[in-house]
Amino acid sequence: MTNTAYPFAQRDILNYVDGAFVAGDVHFDNVNPVTGAVAARVSQADQALVDRAVAAGRRALKGPWGKMSQAERCKLLVRVAEGIEARFDDFAAAEIADTGKSLHQARTIDIPRGAANFRAFAAMAEARAMPSFRTDLPDGRSAINYAVARPLGVVAIISPWNLPLLLMTWKVAPALACGNVVVVKPSEETPSTATLLAEVMDAAGVPPGVFNLVHGFGAASTGEWLTANPDIDAITFTGESATGGAIMRVAAAGVKPVSFELGGKNAALVFADCDFDEAIAGTVRSVFSNCGQVCLCTERIYVERPIFERFVKALAERAEALTIGDPWSGADMGPLISRGHRDKVLGYYDLAREEGATVVTGGGVPSFDSALDQGAFVQPTILTGLGHDARCVREEIFGPVCHIAPFDTEAEAIELANDSDYGLAAAIWTRDVGRAHRVAGQMETGIVWVNEWFLRDLRTPFGGMKLSGIGREGGEASLSFYSEPTNICVKL
Ligand code: NAD
Repeated sequence: MTNTAYPFAQRDILNYVDGAFVAGDVHFDNVNPVTGAVAARVSQADQALVDRAVAAGRRALKGPWGKMSQAERCKLLVRVAEGIEARFDDFAAAEIADTGKSLHQARTIDIPRGAANFRAFAAMAEARAMPSFRTDLPDGRSAINYAVARPLGVVAIISPWNLPLLLMTWKVAPALACGNVVVVKPSEETPSTATLLAEVMDAAGVPPGVFNLVHGFGAASTGEWLTANPDIDAITFTGESATGGAIMRVAAAGVKPVSFELGGKNAALVFADCDFDEAIAGTVRSVFSNCGQVCLCTERIYVERPIFERFVKALAERAEALTIGDPWSGADMGPLISRGHRDKVLGYYDLAREEGATVVTGGGVPSFDSALDQGAFVQPTILTGLGHDARCVREEIFGPVCHIAPFDTEAEAIELANDSDYGLAAAIWTRDVGRAHRVAGQMETGIVWVNEWFLRDLRTPFGGMKLSGIGREGGEASLSFYSEPTNICVKL
């Protein structure tokens, strides 16, 4: 099935502020990276509209939303989840139009997780318990201490393009479940599902001003105008580490709380005693899913020497068997997000050669002899032979590429994995239970998978160390970031 007539073609994508869809004076093109065709025209929010969105949020806190019981609020969020599910195909088509990601990925990960985020955080917020203590005093009397949670207020949400609906709702859902209002700035590359979510919010009866959406770019544009607005109460951001640094400098002026989910250069450690086929299957997913554009993707693989050659050969065979092409044709892998990002990834493919890598497979651009040649496709690529200090081994590339190096001892594997400026995720492949726990406990990352990759329970803490982030989200960590506790002490 080929569907080039995406439902968003020729459509205007608008901002959503104070319960109304609002056009701006300036527009930019939303380009489909499968063919390079313009998929939609996006209305950019200027600074005045960003300020209006923040002010609408502030008003909404004092309106019906602020007075709603926790149970009513959570019921409304479940309605939002149902609204996403009711328009499942529209959401999947919109995500594919913006990103070119595979139909399978959009249908099994992005859109279901978008809905699941609302259900999960509604349930968690309703079940949340706050600490309370009875305090014995020297005079024989006592006190009770208990904490109550209140919303932070107006939360600014800045999200990236790689898993657009999933990562945006990962923040919107807990923020709303905790009673906040939000102003969301999705990536300029992926405005569509955020706009569909505004339609769902509208239809579900979420009061005006609670969910606001502003489109535009980052620095000196909508993103910066939002993060610099003095009337926001917190910033939650997912994106590149360097952008996190820029946002932090802006946030510092107003001493705003920040939650940052940033880049990664994730390692997989493959021990000789692993289930070889499972390790290969898991690593194919962890390197090439979403064309390598998942913050959790593996870009560094360390393999115990006795199985090194066999592992490289098997992974290369699997990479070469991946089908690349139009997501609507059922291809395993679509394009990168844009031609601009492709230039960056191809720059690293060239750099790898300059740094002395062996290109085991890939390393270039596939040819289609069709409109797809105008897209942003690259070949899945496997590198070996680089030293540990090569830039391609240290810097996040964010494409379908990994470097594989051998190791001899468990201690060496741990040292290599941890010697990184990033600290987001790691995967360990071994059948030795003791080693699995021992090594996992020493990974300097926020997330470790053992004989798995990307298996997520939304109640668990998620985030990274070092350049990979500040704070954690997920489960209680999200509820904690998106609310302010007040401890009340009563002497009895
Ligand atoms: P990016 O940092 O370029 O952009 C992210 C968002 O920030 C966009 O909406 C952009 O418009 C906005 N932005 C850019 N500059 C800004 C500024 N100065 N002020 C305010 N907003 C600004 O990131 P990207 O390229 O969209 O996403 C890819 C990156 O995100 C990769 O580094 C990836 O590892 C990371 N990521 C991390 C996680 C995680 O959970 N840790 C998840 C997904 C992606």
